[in-house]
Amino acid sequence: MNKRMVVIGGGIGGLAAALACARAGVAVELLERASEFTEVGAGVQLGPNVVKLIDAWGLRDALSAVAAFPDRLQVRSAITGAELGVLRLGERSVQRYGARYATIHRADLQALLLAAVQREAGVQLQLNSEFDRYEQDDAGVTVHTTAGRELQADFLLGADGGWSRVRQRLLGDGAPVATGKLAYRAMVVQRMLPQHLRSTQVTAWLGPNLHVIAYPVRGGEWLNVVVIVHGQLQRDLASWDHRANSGAVRHSLKLACAPLQDLVQVIGHWRLWGLSIRPPMRGAQEQAQGRVALLGDAAHPMVPFLAQGAGMAIEDAQALAQALAGAGADLPAALQNYARVRWQRNARVQARALRNGEIFHATGLVRWGRDLAMKMFGERLLDLPWLYNGPSD
Ligand SMILES: Cc1cc2nc3c(=O)[nH]c(=O)nc-3n(C[C@H](O)[C@H](O)[C@H](O)COP(=O)(O)OP(=O)(O)OC[C@H]3O[C@@H](n4cnc5c(N)ncnc54)[C@H](O)[C@@H]3O)c2cc1C
Repeated sequence: MNKRMVVIGGGIGGLAAALACARAGVAVELLERASEFTEVGAGVQLGPNVVKLIDAWGLRDALSAVAAFPDRLQVRSAITGAELGVLRLGERSVQRYGARYATIHRADLQALLLAAVQREAGVQLQLNSEFDRYEQDDAGVTVHTTAGRELQADFLLGADGGWSRVRQRLLGDGAPVATGKLAYRAMVVQRMLPQHLRSTQVTAWLGPNLHVIAYPVRGGEWLNVVVIVHGQLQRDLASWDHRANSGAVRHSLKLACAPLQDLVQVIGHWRLWGLSIRPPMRGAQEQAQGRVALLGDAAHPMVPFLAQGAGMAIEDAQALAQALAGAGADLPAALQNYARVRWQRNARVQARALRNGEIFHATGLVRWGRDLAMKMFGERLLDLPWLYNGPSD
């Protein structure tokens, strides 16, 4: 008989897990509390480690139809505009890592995963279903929704994001904490921009206590812009998406170079996210215990300075499917295997993302040293084979 899994959360991680596990022969019931599968209007970068998996799931054409595939990542000084370093992507990424480097609207990524999940006979999707609690014993798990529904399954997967309730039941380690950094995000149609502000590449502008990332999405038709600055959010940290004051964005970049000021000047509409965090994972027990496992931000929320949060959720999904495909009746052992395979890589990515934050926002002598090192070693510093080769490296 098929193993039965309940997944909590229909974000990128939950959908990826439903897809990969259904294909490994697992009967999946996915509960999402929202009334529809939606993602906020923002972009994500997908390294070749992630694109390789999406391609292998048979979604290469679907990805090609909606993503952009930038030729390079250029690092510039936010203050002078000078180029600090370049990482070639495009064909080099294919040759070196076996897959392209993609940039995509979150909603497009979610939609292509959802369409693939809906083609799987073994998956049931339940909207308006909010997870409340679970109990587990030797025979299985019982999952309760806030509306009083009760589901029986062989195991439970918490893919319910950074403020995961499944995690709270499993680990009881409290809420994530504010990083003291804010992300302002905007999407703008490229043809509405003056020619000199349009872009086909990933650009990272580094400045004291701030950085800005811009890259194309929707086949290059839109530009996604993220401005990260220091500050505290006075509103609900658990909600990703707050209205933002464009004057505040312009003010935070008042010392920036002309092209960057021009870019934020023409964007009228910004959204604001407060970035919250947990420390890097300390062991496999933080990713699975007994018949309950965690995936994506529920297991390892991270600052977005390595652009791999969704990527690690997708890698988790593939690893979980592999662990289950080879599993016998001992499901806790299979989940342990999944946790053992994943936690160290997730912890490494979390730690590296934190370190990038310090490097990107450096001031004084550290900033001077960073710029010098970037000029001397450029691509050698920016390329990350341990990451882009994927988990088997
Ligand atoms: C500014 C910024 C930029 C980023 N850039 C990148 C990038 O370039 N590349 C990258 O790979 N990652 C990036 N990330 C990270 C990435 O967005 C996240 O890591 C990823 O979305 C996590 O997916 P998830 O499915 O684990 O969680 P989520 O996307 O948070 O999904 C969780 C889902 O669970 C549902 N849910 C929650 N609680 C319940 C409940 N009790 N019952 C039922 N459903 C529930 C929610 O409604 C939601 O649909 C960025 C993040 C930020 C903040």
